[in-house]
Amino acid sequence: MVVNSADPFETDERRALRALVAAFTEREVAPNMDTWEQDGSVPIELHRAAAKSGLLELGFPEAAGGAGDYIDLAILIEELIGHGGSPGLCGALLTHTIAAPHIAAAGDPEQIAKYVRPALDGRKIGSLAITEPGTGSDVAGVGTAAVRDGDHYVVNGAKTYITSGTRADFVTTVVRTGGPGHSGLSLLIVDTDTPGFSVGRRLEKMGCRCSDTAELHYDNVRVPAANLVGAEGTAFKQLMTRLDGERLNLAVQG
Ligand SMILES: Cc1cc2nc3c(=O)[nH]c(=O)nc-3n(C[C@H](O)[C@H](O)[C@H](O)COP(=O)(O)OP(=O)(O)OC[C@H]3O[C@@H](n4cnc5c(N)ncnc54)[C@H](O)[C@@H]3O)c2cc1C
Repeated sequence: MVVNSADPFETDERRALRALVAAFTEREVAPNMDTWEQDGSVPIELHRAAAKSGLLELGFPEAAGGAGDYIDLAILIEELIGHGGSPGLCGALLTHTIAAPHIAAAGDPEQIAKYVRPALDGRKIGSLAITEPGTGSDVAGVGTAAVRDGDHYVVNGAKTYITSGTRADFVTTVVRTGGPGHSGLSLLIVDTDTPGFSVGRRLEKMGCRCSDTAELHYDNVRVPAANLVGAEGTAFKQLMTRLDGERLNLAVQG
C-alpha cells in the first residue's frame, strides 16, 4: 500500500494513537455503553482511565498540561465512535473540551492549576454554560447577571441544556457584567459547591442519553473575582474563537 506521507492523519504517531484509542474503547467503553445509556451518565472513573491513557489532554496547549492538536482530537473522536462509543459518549467524556479551552487560553496560572489540569487528569468534570431558558443561538442576549461586590461577583440567573451539568465540579459560566449586547459579557468559573448554586431538572433526551444534560440555577452565588477568565467584557470573543473547535468535534462525530 502506498501511504501519502504528506497526509497529516497518517503519521506513525497518529496511527499509534488510533490503535490506542481503538483498544481503549473496546476495553473500557463498549462493554458499558448500554448501562451508561440507561443510567443517563458516565462515571468519573471513565474520565480517569481516559486521562491515564493520555486521551483527555489532546487539543490543549502544552503550557496547560495538554498535548497534540485538533487532528489528534479528531482521531480520538473517530475511534471512540468507530469502536463502540457514540456522540453522547463523546459529549460526556470530552466535556472538558468545551469547558476548559478558554481557561487554558486566557486563564491565569492559578486557574489553569485549579481547573484545567484536574480536568485533563480526569479528576474534575467541567461544564460550559451559555444557554438560558430565554437565550439560545443569540449568545449576545445572555441575561445571567454578575454584579461586582468587593472581591466577589454575585451571580443570579439560570442556564439550561448544560452538558455534564449534573456531574460538574465547575461551570465556566457566561455572565453579564456590563451593558447590553456582546460587549457586556464575561466568563466566570463557578465551583458547583458554592452556596446558591443548584442543579435543577435533569433533562430527558431522545438520544445521547449517557450524556447528562441539566438546568442550572444561580441564586446570589458569591464567586471570587479571581475566577474571571480574561478581562471583563471579553466572553463573546473568547466563545466565538473556541466554539469553532466544538463545531469541528461535532462535524467529526457526524
Ligand atoms: C444535547 C444538547 C446539549 C447541549 N449542551 C449545551 C452546553 O453544554 N452548554 C450550553 O450553553 N448549551 C448547550 N446546549 C444548548 C444549545 O447550544 C442550544 O440549543 C442552541 O444554542 C440553540 O438554542 P435554542 O435551543 O434556544 O434554539 P433557538 O435559538 O431558539 O433556535 C431555534 C431555531 O431557530 C433558528 N434561529 C435562531 N435564531 C435565528 C435567526 N436570527 N435567524 C434565523 N434562524 C434563527 C435556529 O437555527 C434554530 O433552528 C445543548 C443543547 C442540546 C440539545
